[in-house]
Amino acid sequence: MSQTETEEKKGRVLRIAHLGIAVESLGKNGAFYDLLDLVETHREEVDSQKVLTSFRPVGESFFELLEPTSPESPIAKYLQKNRPGIHHVCLEVDDVRAVLARLKEKGVRLINEEPFEGAHSCLVAFVHPSATGGILLELSQKMGGGH
Ligand code: ZN
Repeated sequence: MSQTETEEKKGRVLRIAHLGIAVESLGKNGAFYDLLDLVETHREEVDSQKVLTSFRPVGESFFELLEPTSPESPIAKYLQKNRPGIHHVCLEVDDVRAVLARLKEKGVRLINEEPFEGAHSCLVAFVHPSATGGILLELSQKMGGGH
């Protein structure tokens, strides 16, 4: 494989990493998913987003329940304007900076031009819904150690 071909392969989408679901209470809303045996395998507070997350594996992907920990949380603001429900879709990519650079070059509206640390120490960035057909799209790259 030539150097150029290797370069072109950077920034690939690998899978749907998770569906982010905004909820008012992890306890109350999580109970439903327990009934489906989609049990929580990971819980983490993400300071940068002021949310408590509950990860529940669904095959190769996860449901990520998101409960705000502060009125300043983007999830709290979302819940003030919308019903609880699907907040974002997350795609795992092999190189989030490469994807962001490609989208930016094409004039795509990004929420984050620079990735930041999300749950599981992943490097994440969001793409604006106006560019994606209406969904808030999270791009996530695994860093060493996470899952
Ligand atoms: Zn997410």
